[in-house]
Amino acid sequence: MIYADHAATTPISATALQAMQPYLDTQYGNPSTLYRLARTPRKAIAEARQTIASAIGAKPQEIFFTSGGTESDNWAIKGNAFRHLGQKKRIITSAIEHHAVLNTCSWLEHLGFDVDYLPVDSKGCVNPNDLLRAISDDTILISIMMANNEIGTIEPIQELARIAHSRHIPFHTDAVQAVGHIPIDVNNLGIDFLSASAHKFNGPKGTGFLYCREGYSIEALLHGGGQESGMRSGTENTAGIVGMAAALNEHILSMTAENEHLEALRNRLICGLEGADFMINGSKSHIPGSLSLSFAHVEGEVLLHRLDLMEIAVATGSACNSKDTVLSHVIQAIQVPSQYANGTIRITLGMDNNEEQVDQIAHSLKRLLLQFSNLS
Ligand code: PLP
Repeated sequence: MIYADHAATTPISATALQAMQPYLDTQYGNPSTLYRLARTPRKAIAEARQTIASAIGAKPQEIFFTSGGTESDNWAIKGNAFRHLGQKKRIITSAIEHHAVLNTCSWLEHLGFDVDYLPVDSKGCVNPNDLLRAISDDTILISIMMANNEIGTIEPIQELARIAHSRHIPFHTDAVQAVGHIPIDVNNLGIDFLSASAHKFNGPKGTGFLYCREGYSIEALLHGGGQESGMRSGTENTAGIVGMAAALNEHILSMTAENEHLEALRNRLICGLEGADFMINGSKSHIPGSLSLSFAHVEGEVLLHRLDLMEIAVATGSACNSKDTVLSHVIQAIQVPSQYANGTIRITLGMDNNEEQVDQIAHSLKRLLLQFSNLS
């Protein structure tokens, strides 16, 4: 099997798995308890918090562990909104966010909040001038993703956050596709809230974190035993947290070499498709190894199933809505021409892919396209 859907999830790294092992086994103590069995898990969580904080230029007390990207996005947005319940305030986001953001915002609209969904250009980029124009006196939060999960485009976060701060509005970014893959410094970029998920960087599923800048408080969504400084109750997922920190650390250490390798593979794949009728979606500034392609006059879903039969795993759109046959909201928003739009597939390469594999993907795609054109 050639796995080329790393934006959906990644295999857990051997280092992360090894780091987690004791906490699934002998070190099972509840970190909040007072006896000796809790000491090692508690220390491991503190170390993981430190590792994760330094990976994004944050302080340990600004990191809050969650169950993943969806929870972090929900918390950042609802946690800010709930401070203004009943006040008809406004949130600004973009049209191409993940559904963890979009559906949270539309639910808040039912509660009486206003939400602006900024358009993007044909590359998937938010225009900072559109943000400037959208801000009004009732805006309480701006949430723009760092990198898009379908087309890989990296948004101009520093500029967008600067605009938010010029109007004293907190800035949240869904960095689920970016953390571990591109350098991030929350202070340099001016981010106040940042969502991340371990399974996107070879950590375990069901674990993530929310970065909250010191001094910016939000409402807790989970009330109970008061873990995570009272901000996110629930017994800590020690093994998950430790595995996440180990996986992130591994990515940070190998990021430069890894990204060179991924971009070389991506370029090789594009070259391998020469002669086929396709468009490349997304911006020059993209997540390394991420490639959204739209082929003329074919169905992306048919390509996906035929590739699957050839033992190649790719996606059509976002993994979380891959059962939908409707054109993805991202492909719609960037206005891919109609003869190409339905033929969109997403290939996202990872550190386990090699040249032989991308050659096989290109070769298989070309074979399928030839078959389809002969049929028609
Ligand atoms: N945000 C983005 C950009 C994503 O790509 C995803 C998952 O695909 C999520 C949020 C949700 O993350 P999780 O699967 O950890 O809930």
